[in-house]
Amino acid sequence: MTTPSAIFGSTEENTIARAADIPSLERLLAAPEAQALLRDVGRSRLTATLRAVLDDARGKTLAGELKLKALTAPHLLEQARARLAAQDAPRLRAVYNLTGTVLHTNLGRALLPDEAVQAVIQALRAPANLEFDLATGKRGDRDDLVEDLLRELTGAEAATVVNNNAAAVLLMLNTLANRREAIVSRGELVEIGGAFRIPDIMKRAGTRLIEVGTTNRTHPADYENAISPRTAMLMKVHCSNYAITGFTRSVNLDEVSEIARRHNLPTAVDLGSGTLVDLTQWGLPREDTVRDTVDAGADIVTFSGDKLLGGPQAGLIVGRADLIRKIKKNPLKRALRVGKLTLAALEPVLALYRSPEFLAERLTTLRLLTRPREQMHQQAARLLPALQHFVGTAYAVESEPMFSQIGSGALPIDQLPSHGLVVRHAGSGRPGRALQTLEKRFRELPRPVIGRIAQDAFHLDLRCLEEREEAAFLQQLQQEH
Ligand SMILES: *Cc1c(COP(=O)(O)O)cnc(C)c1O
Repeated sequence: MTTPSAIFGSTEENTIARAADIPSLERLLAAPEAQALLRDVGRSRLTATLRAVLDDARGKTLAGELKLKALTAPHLLEQARARLAAQDAPRLRAVYNLTGTVLHTNLGRALLPDEAVQAVIQALRAPANLEFDLATGKRGDRDDLVEDLLRELTGAEAATVVNNNAAAVLLMLNTLANRREAIVSRGELVEIGGAFRIPDIMKRAGTRLIEVGTTNRTHPADYENAISPRTAMLMKVHCSNYAITGFTRSVNLDEVSEIARRHNLPTAVDLGSGTLVDLTQWGLPREDTVRDTVDAGADIVTFSGDKLLGGPQAGLIVGRADLIRKIKKNPLKRALRVGKLTLAALEPVLALYRSPEFLAERLTTLRLLTRPREQMHQQAARLLPALQHFVGTAYAVESEPMFSQIGSGALPIDQLPSHGLVVRHAGSGRPGRALQTLEKRFRELPRPVIGRIAQDAFHLDLRCLEEREEAAFLQQLQQEH
């Protein structure tokens, strides 16, 4: 074959390539560098990738943009290898959550304890008695796997589990209030993260929403006066992500349920986060537990599995046995039910609640929420030098107190004393641009570090960086400098 280099009597690598210089696919596949790739991904995938690489090279060659040395087999095969690696990089990746929001919905909410992780692995690998009653050898009900635990921990008569709390509310309303009315206080018509709004869910459930009271004040008589033959239930919704303060009046659950009972109607509560224990014993803000809610007269309570409860994504419905029975018979239940992985993870998480004195140690979410500020303070001192080195002299890193939040609509106005590292732009010029560059650099690390820009500084709250992860965190900063 006559190559341009031969014509011009030069073997100079910097010569501009011509189309005739492009090697054939067969030659590339036969090259020694191709053999490991062939073993890894197989002939069909490597062929397709090399075709794409060669197409690219052809385009660039025609445009006169490619040097001859870019068309060697090792070079082209390296491009193919890089393309394959990029395709195979997982899209769902581990990150460091240094946002200061412990239950961060966009970062996957609750992290599960090892007991739950092990149970999920086992459920993935081995057949399990998901809907098989080992005592009788007959068909079982998947809810049975956690119903006893949920009854024990909440005091409710019965329980069922669906995909998430949004599904729990939808299923509950569609079962108990389809083509009928549910009475809700105006002050409780919450929107959670854009996609979940109580009025919209009600519409989809076939329930007519009857709003009572005003934004800041609702009285017992407001509920009473709204009751009609079309009323299916009185409903209370936890104000998960806001608080109404000032001149306010809301009607307590025991008052609402008393009114409902007098009219022979059920009371439903969407608790949102739904904690199973009194959090004040760990110095955390008070939140009504599911048991408190059941005790105060709720006939049905819905809550999330992956908020304060600290388990997998799930919607838990507990309450009166006759109502739970109806809910389970709704054909929508089948569409909203959970899979075995969820149940595998949920059971050990619920079981941890049987020993409350160990909960702050064993339940990851609670362990993170209860970390004392001093721990993060000491951690900040250990991490500061490496971080300063990583960001370079254009930025100044300082160890500073800050506040974390629980997140996911749990206890919206309470903040947890925390400590972290704050990075400010040292030079002149607009700090905004420099901080965005910095934030992006952290985001592009092999395990991305997600922080928060506020008050012209990049904040890294150390609450969710547990000490056992510190070495890996440091190593990545040192390697990537
Ligand atoms: C979070 C929340 C929901 C939605 O729960 P998901 O588990 O995210 O589906 C519904 N209602 C309230 C009051 C909430 O706080």
